[in-house]
Amino acid sequence: MKKLIYLDNAATTKTAPEVVEAMLPYFTEYYGNPSSVYEFAGKSKQAVDAARKTIADSLGAKPEEIYFTAGGSESDNWALKATAEAYASKGKHIITSKIEHHAILHTCEYLEKRGFEITYLDVDENGVVKLDELEKAIRPDTILISVMFANNEIGTIQPIEEIGAIAKEHGILFHTDAVQAFGQLPINVDVCHIDMLSASGHKLNGPKGIGFLYIRKGVKIRSFVHGGAQERKRRAGTENVPGIVGLGKAVERAMSSMEERTAKERETRDYLIERVLTEIPYCRLNGDRTRRLPNNANFSFQFLEGESLLIMLDMKGICGSSGSACTSGSLDPSHVLMAIGLPHEIAHGSLRLTLNEEITKEDMDYVVESLKEIIDKLRSMSPLYEDFIKKQK
Ligand SMILES: *Cc1c(COP(=O)(O)O)cnc(C)c1O
Repeated sequence: MKKLIYLDNAATTKTAPEVVEAMLPYFTEYYGNPSSVYEFAGKSKQAVDAARKTIADSLGAKPEEIYFTAGGSESDNWALKATAEAYASKGKHIITSKIEHHAILHTCEYLEKRGFEITYLDVDENGVVKLDELEKAIRPDTILISVMFANNEIGTIQPIEEIGAIAKEHGILFHTDAVQAFGQLPINVDVCHIDMLSASGHKLNGPKGIGFLYIRKGVKIRSFVHGGAQERKRRAGTENVPGIVGLGKAVERAMSSMEERTAKERETRDYLIERVLTEIPYCRLNGDRTRRLPNNANFSFQFLEGESLLIMLDMKGICGSSGSACTSGSLDPSHVLMAIGLPHEIAHGSLRLTLNEEITKEDMDYVVESLKEIIDKLRSMSPLYEDFIKKQK
């Protein structure tokens, strides 16, 4: 097979072999519907219960506070739409940040069209939400604060404990999109005063199409999918048993290996950052240097287009992601890079590389050498770069 260095783990991860292995019997052997009464179906129900407990334990939550969904997007939609509806009589104001995932931002736009008012908090130059702005944004009719645990593009980790404390002090519900953080950072819902938390299987070496929403006991939230009585009547539909089993296994795996795995990733990632910043001119690291997910690196290279860089990296077997939203057919640079104050031309030359524990320093050496070669080539074709160099002389 062609060389493959997969550095897009923020987009999705490889399903771990032991996860696949744990799932298989629930397709072919124990395929019963967990709602059925006979003993055979009990096997499926037990497996769902066990996964629910593993997940609850990993967050310091209770099993009955974990609701399985089809992934991060559904969890985010549910958390926002269903609390907005349930608390609308109390108020119609929601606070979020400018750098949320589109699953949050587009849901907020949907709610705005239905009479809700949303405050989008600014972030500082590293992508950290400003707590004093949060305090100032709170109003008597604020019903929900939703701020992501860690950003999917630049890896910045938010002061979640402080945000949770502010929400609690004002009696406002607090939701966090922890899709990127869950499995990479230790999270305790009580310590951080989290009322709702979204997570997704495929971001932590679990299967795609399964995730969960943690909903603290006592939070009024409407059911999102209407139908049967599954998930304590809050999310109908026959349980995705193999997916749930796989998610449970992925969480077990992520929690037991967290320290060692993230230490390795951090070391390899720092090696990459160090080499890129010292060996490639006119480049910068986006996001906070230390308050950052262990596997995330995000660079901007002046005088080039991220998209061209991606295509040339792909020819060398390197999978990365660009900071612009070109994949969605739009030429606008990423809203996250705009929010941290990057000018358009710099945001356009961005590259996100997100590691996993299998990536080695040798892989990084190959990436850096490839980057140097490609960037030299792209810049040599750039009239902007030519002008810039002429002016330097
Ligand atoms: C990937 C991602 C999502 C969406 O999760 P899916 O399971 O793909 O729907 C939401 N939020 C963040 C921060 C993500 O990285």
